[in-house]
Amino acid sequence: MKDDNCIFCLIANGQIPSNTVYEDGDFRVILDISPAAKGHMLILPKEHYANIFELPEETAKKVLPLAKKLAAAVKEAMNADGVNIVQNNGTAAGQTVPHFHLHIIPRKEGDNAMPLWTPGESVPEEQAQIAEKISKLMK
Ligand code: AMP
Ligand code: ZN
Repeated sequence: MKDDNCIFCLIANGQIPSNTVYEDGDFRVILDISPAAKGHMLILPKEHYANIFELPEETAKKVLPLAKKLAAAVKEAMNADGVNIVQNNGTAAGQTVPHFHLHIIPRKEGDNAMPLWTPGESVPEEQAQIAEKISKLMK
């Protein structure tokens, strides 16, 4: 399903022009319009899925192999030292466009292109409880 009010549906399906890096039957890969670093790309499914929770498993299975190829290509193209793969779900997690997308961001040593999280504290008993709670939901 496509959503005519969704900018990424319109871009992914070629109704709005973009700097396209790659396209197949399932995805369009574009350059981000406000890149964290030169070569910052977005993998967009052509169908509308708001986030990872809505993404069908068969589409999900294709995303990481594509990201792997793009990461290698952009590393070479931009002479990068590293690559971040980022994917936000929900406004609390920083998602601003509610159409699933994966960011691929080439990085140079010391470029400060992306803030990393602040490492927190962990309490052993709490860690064990959290692990058990999540683990139960995986069954
Ligand atoms: P997120 O915060 O994970 O939802 O990321 C949304 C990304 O989409 C941001 O990095 C924006 O710069 C990018 N973006 C928004 N509109 C466009 C557009 N028209 N073309 C390309 N990238 C866009
Ligand atoms: Zn969409």
